[in-house]
Amino acid sequence: MALLEAKNVNVVYKVKEKEIKAVRNVSLDVEVQDSIGIVGESGSGKSTLAMAILQLLPNKIAKTTGEIVFDGVDLLKISENELREIRWKDIAVVFQKSMNSLSPVHKIGYQMGDIYRVHEPNATDKEVKERVLELFRLVNLADRVYDLYPHELSGGMMQRVSIALSLIYYPRLLIMDEATTALDVVTQGQILEEIMRLEEKLHLTRMMITHDVSVVSSTCKKVAVMYAGCLLESGYVSDVLTNPKHPYTQGLLSSFPSLTGERNELRGIPGSLPDLSVAHKGCVFADRCKKATDICFVKEPRTVKFPNSWNVSCHLIGGEDCDQLD
Ligand code: ATP
Ligand code: SF4
Ligand code: MG
Repeated sequence: MALLEAKNVNVVYKVKEKEIKAVRNVSLDVEVQDSIGIVGESGSGKSTLAMAILQLLPNKIAKTTGEIVFDGVDLLKISENELREIRWKDIAVVFQKSMNSLSPVHKIGYQMGDIYRVHEPNATDKEVKERVLELFRLVNLADRVYDLYPHELSGGMMQRVSIALSLIYYPRLLIMDEATTALDVVTQGQILEEIMRLEEKLHLTRMMITHDVSVVSSTCKKVAVMYAGCLLESGYVSDVLTNPKHPYTQGLLSSFPSLTGERNELRGIPGSLPDLSVAHKGCVFADRCKKATDICFVKEPRTVKFPNSWNVSCHLIGGEDCDQLD
């Protein structure tokens, strides 16, 4: 069952005279207890998509269209008050710098308790403290952190507090936006393992935004590849990251050390993202694609659906060639 259904989502930022099309026609289903990685290079629209799901984009400059249906409710059609009930309680987010939202002059436990009381105003002091300590244990934090100030925490502890904070109401969907990227590899690995254990325990659904394909490969069931605001390929990690069909996914994977063992030479994809404020024709990846043909510069490829929820948007894949290339 889909917990979240994004249908034809577009996000446009209006800055001065320019319109930046940061998310373009993205459709994506996230099933209950899925773990889906959103990958793509910097500026491809990953965070914008997450912020659109949370409806946290600045109204004055960002316009979101399409449908973002969470548990049957279109988040684009409800009031700010209704959204406030859903955010944090049902959909929570952890950023790289989530801790910055905490005050430096109050102890961690006190601040977390205050946040818990927003939706649980009748909880007693004892209940609040118990809840905070329960969350600490879930993310492997010592009870003593309750009485520490934010500046007394290491980077790993900070991100654990951020994760504990995001779980304070036991949300159904957890969005992690580069939440462990700044940590050393060992701490990142530990936290990701804890998250996977928590998922089982709390029946969490996770959307994981990262540049790091290897993190997705080791911690997610599914993956969606974004480029210049578009979703180019999505499906199960075991399909998409093992045998990618889209030329961009193929390039992205060859830019990373081998996911399965031996290190390959890092090659990267020559060129850079197109200017998102300039109207384009055809495939968004055409300027950098080694396989591009004439049609790629004039016609936008449609999304071809393969079995096992594997979707690919490329002229080379689909139509009459579909069966041969599958
Ligand atoms: P990164 O991996 O670097 O975090 P990203 O994939 O999350 O990148 P976004 O931050 O979503 O990418 O940005 C997508 C595009 O939208 C970029 O061109 C960016 O410059 C633009 N953008 C993002 N936020 C704003 C904003 N508040 N105002 C104007 N343009 C923005
Ligand atoms: Fe390359 Fe054309 Fe496929 Fe785009 S549609 S990825 S340009 S082959
Ligand atoms: Mg981002």
